[in-house]
Amino acid sequence: MSETKILIVVDMLNDFLKPDGKLYCGPTAEAIVPGVVELVRKYKDNDDVILFLADAHDEDDLEFKRFPEHCVAGTDGAMVINELSEIVVGYDNHEFIEKKRYSGFFETELEDALFFEDPDLVEVVGICTSICVMDTVGGLANRDLKINLYKDLVADFDPEMHEMALKRMENLYGVNMV
Ligand SMILES: [Zn+2]
Repeated sequence: MSETKILIVVDMLNDFLKPDGKLYCGPTAEAIVPGVVELVRKYKDNDDVILFLADAHDEDDLEFKRFPEHCVAGTDGAMVINELSEIVVGYDNHEFIEKKRYSGFFETELEDALFFEDPDLVEVVGICTSICVMDTVGGLANRDLKINLYKDLVADFDPEMHEMALKRMENLYGVNMV
């Protein structure tokens, strides 16, 4: 039997990736878009599952005490960027999973989606490396899943935190850097 793979795409949303977005993460983040597009296409061609995690905050979300307002549920800013969403139009094997906190596991459907697929391997890309990517990868590691992280397809507005997070995920969570 062939290996079951899942791709988790973290927070590739308009507010983070577009220069006019509410919490633009900068050119380093924008630079991963073509690589993520290519990987999502590859998953689709192989009929593998793609899960898009998406920040979807309430208007008065507590997180806005720490960050400027961003990705309010239902707004354009909270949508997955067109470059990615247009690829999966009409493709059954994908899901958009909304989240209100950094971890993709907090009060979301991610756990159910993973249980249903029972993957041999979970691959992760997206932003920001030290925030939602790392917290979600921590949740995957706690569930003893085999994890590949594409180190050139994650990004952070803070380069120091980016490096720290990569190191921590590799050393503490046993993530394979690919
Ligand atoms: Zn947020």
